[in-house]
Amino acid sequence: MRYLVLADIHANIDALEAVLREAAATSFDHVLILGDLVGYGAEPNAVVTRVRGLGPLTAVRGNHDKVAAGVADTQDFNPMAKEAAQWTMRAVDADNRAFLASLPVGPIAVDDLIEICHGAPFDEDAYVVDSLDALKSITDATRPVCVYGHTHLPMAMALVGRDFQYLDAEAGTSLRLEPGAHYMINAGSVGQPRDGDPRAAWAVIDTATRRVEFHRTSYDVSAAQERIRLAGLPESLARRLAAGR
Ligand code: ZN
Repeated sequence: MRYLVLADIHANIDALEAVLREAAATSFDHVLILGDLVGYGAEPNAVVTRVRGLGPLTAVRGNHDKVAAGVADTQDFNPMAKEAAQWTMRAVDADNRAFLASLPVGPIAVDDLIEICHGAPFDEDAYVVDSLDALKSITDATRPVCVYGHTHLPMAMALVGRDFQYLDAEAGTSLRLEPGAHYMINAGSVGQPRDGDPRAAWAVIDTATRRVEFHRTSYDVSAAQERIRLAGLPESLARRLAAGR
């Protein structure tokens, strides 16, 4: 099985379409959606509709999806995120809102090897950024490979026996999943990367070869910026796309 991993698309249809074009060339059987389909970007309906049409998929909700669906409030959001969330709430149509509201709380076990969550296995809204977070996550995970999002930073961490390792998650890396080891894998963000590289980040996990392939895809950033400006969303949301921050 080849899983296409898409996290934190954040209503960026230009980034999503570019990723799907490139992913089609590598082929995949099933899509894993790690939450935050919407929020920040200007095309929440286009993104949700596109994702719903992708065929077999397993998804979990993100904090921005919860707010857009009216399942949570914006209490934990900074002023910019709050403004974007309120705009998104108004923009999302009834059908897509119902889909967002139906997204399950992570973690969700996908098969015997993989589970997915937005933040962490122990808390869907927690940020996994270092070895402490990763070790706590690995303790809580029910599968050897936990794939997560939320931080918008591509990362791969492993516990091999008692040895904790930070592994390479650069574009072009093909990471081999060793039997008996435990992994925390973040494919990075499709729609709002924050590692200084503006290219859309995604991954493919091949369970037959036990490999994770990390990818980056260039897309029309200026088109996504133009949509944000036309929507009247905060200018900083447009600017950060070019910086990848
Ligand atoms: Zn996010």
